[in-house]
Amino acid sequence: MSDWDLLFRGAKLVSEESVRTADVAVTDEKIAAIGADLDGSAKLVVEVDEAYLFPGIIDAHIHFNEPGREHWEGILTGSHALAAGGGSVFFDMPLNASPPTLDRESFAQKRACAEQKSVLDFGLWGGLTPVNLDQMDELAESGVIGFKAFMSEPGTSDFKRADPATLKRGMQTAARWNLPVGVHAEDNAMIESLVRAKRAEGLKHWQDYLDSRPIEAELAAIRVALDLAGETGCALHVVHVSCPAGIELISAAKRQGVDVTAETCPHYLLLKGEDIGTIGAPAKCAPPLRSASVQEALWQCWFAGEIDTLGSDHSPAPPDMKTSNDFFEVWGGIASCQHAFPLTIAEIERRAKELGFPQFIRSTSSAVARRFGIGVSKGKIAPGYDADLVMVRLGGNERIQDLLYKHPVSPYLRWPLQAIIVQTWVRGRKVYADGKVAGDFRGRFLRPKR
Ligand SMILES: [Zn+2]
Repeated sequence: MSDWDLLFRGAKLVSEESVRTADVAVTDEKIAAIGADLDGSAKLVVEVDEAYLFPGIIDAHIHFNEPGREHWEGILTGSHALAAGGGSVFFDMPLNASPPTLDRESFAQKRACAEQKSVLDFGLWGGLTPVNLDQMDELAESGVIGFKAFMSEPGTSDFKRADPATLKRGMQTAARWNLPVGVHAEDNAMIESLVRAKRAEGLKHWQDYLDSRPIEAELAAIRVALDLAGETGCALHVVHVSCPAGIELISAAKRQGVDVTAETCPHYLLLKGEDIGTIGAPAKCAPPLRSASVQEALWQCWFAGEIDTLGSDHSPAPPDMKTSNDFFEVWGGIASCQHAFPLTIAEIERRAKELGFPQFIRSTSSAVARRFGIGVSKGKIAPGYDADLVMVRLGGNERIQDLLYKHPVSPYLRWPLQAIIVQTWVRGRKVYADGKVAGDFRGRFLRPKR
């Protein structure tokens, strides 16, 4: 009889603290032992051969658009793409599916879809909107990992913007359940008046779009959200912060005792506004891409540990919604979950060698698991934890071409891929290896522990 189900030999094991060479043994979906040259036999031995083993990436910011808008993406194609990108868990956002996740029924519908189709473990966000404040309790009972609110118009008519009074009431409910509220923070009035002025002049260039969503609009909304979080005692998670000034506001509030965390997305670290000139519509998002100097300063914030989490904000749409000569009309959302993380790993390695990897682990696994209440089983490679593992190899001169999304749209097409996701494992099951999604494994619904 074998001692273990699985044994990974000779890995460069990345933890929150360090990178060290070790073997990892897995039994019954869990990490069973870690050590240098482990003694014992296994049903399957995986020679890691000096590649890195990272804990599986937990992508807390995903739009798979199912049920109802499978023609935009879908849980099967989306989870395949994320598995190829090193993800073992995703949290799906409550909007862009139809119906949006606003009550018990829509939650159950999405959960059933994901249980049928996802190759990764998953959690689900619920909405915080003016029309479902009274359904937040049932969403909490159903097991949402948090509530998402938009402070500016979200772009789909079935998900309503939360004005400050709505946000406050929603935060009070979320605080009772000890669940975080995630906010898209951009000041609606400021943006609307800038957009109106641009439109009145007939402007439609991508630069006009960038100018209509300035950093000031982001900061104004972050300030409101921080005040309300302080007042209500709600845990606040500001999603896709695009600028260091926003991170500074959040860090200052943390020092004053506000329970707040900040997310940024790989695209704010990998792309800058002027790149839209060559990439075009696939690089449109909100908040928009910023300047090169803002991007560089955002990297400094990330290396300083001031940015808590990295989420892809994978937000695809059919190609016809990404093609218009009027940049204001183009769908704002970047399809990215397949390459966002490996490209970020490669850039970290370029800047800091493997010394930067522990911080990557914190912001894609450990800190995400802790923030969203799944830290008892996910987020680290340690005995007793789920065997969610990603094998990463550096080097090579491959260029990005094969996209697993429903639509082959990505701002990163033909970019060199210098960190390769070789394999992704979820609870000891291989879900992705060498360019292919493996087997018919299905992921499990994750309920936060509070
Ligand atoms: Zn989003």
